[in-house]
Amino acid sequence: MFILKQVSKQYKVKKQTIKALEEVSYSFSSTGFYLITGKSGSGKSTLLNIIGGLEKPSSGQVEKKVDRKDIAYVFQDYNLIGDWTVKENLSFMGFSNDQIISTLQEVNLVGKEDTKASMLSGGEAKRLAVGRAILKGSVVLLLDEPTNDLDITTLQILEDYLDSFQGIIITVSHDRYFLDRLCDTLFVFSHQQIQVHNGGYSDYI
Ligand code: ADP
Ligand code: MG
Repeated sequence: MFILKQVSKQYKVKKQTIKALEEVSYSFSSTGFYLITGKSGSGKSTLLNIIGGLEKPSSGQVEKKVDRKDIAYVFQDYNLIGDWTVKENLSFMGFSNDQIISTLQEVNLVGKEDTKASMLSGGEAKRLAVGRAILKGSVVLLLDEPTNDLDITTLQILEDYLDSFQGIIITVSHDRYFLDRLCDTLFVFSHQQIQVHNGGYSDYI
């Protein structure tokens, strides 16, 4: 569904060039749970943003065989619209009030419907982002460290949802449950590239 061909990304900051990705090639063709790990600053978020079309590669191509509306995101900065209320952040995709209310119940945000997203705590914002991903009923989930800041109840909901999810999940995470229970393909970032890790997982973490 996503084919990356020699995708490179550099950022220019003042006179410095930072290499984030160096000719990454991979075909995410079968459904399953793809887990991306690696040190902080290794390029994980950049890769996910490029897959999701939020950033453009400096060179190389990303071929997508999926409609943008079928992709749900939980990004590191939540990707919420700060000036909109909790309810507005969920309702702009045309879901019914009942669907929205049951999602708010699931992620424990009842009573916060009219709070602006920018006024939520980190954990609440993350729960809203998770709620939106669940609500969307997507084919592809792109998740950037979705379990950071998440309370145990929402974590459980997210895990159950991911467990039963039928499409493609590409997630950046160091969550042990993902690694032990959900992961089909593990990547480790090394030298601005992803490498499939086939060894025992325990020697990785
Ligand atoms: P990770 O998610 O693995 O922590 P990132 O993909 O966020 O890493 O970042 C990879 C590298 O690119 C880092 O060195 C980071 O500082 C740099 N980088 C990321 N985004 C930007 C940006 N918008 N401008 C400049 N440098 C950036
Ligand atoms: Mg990141």
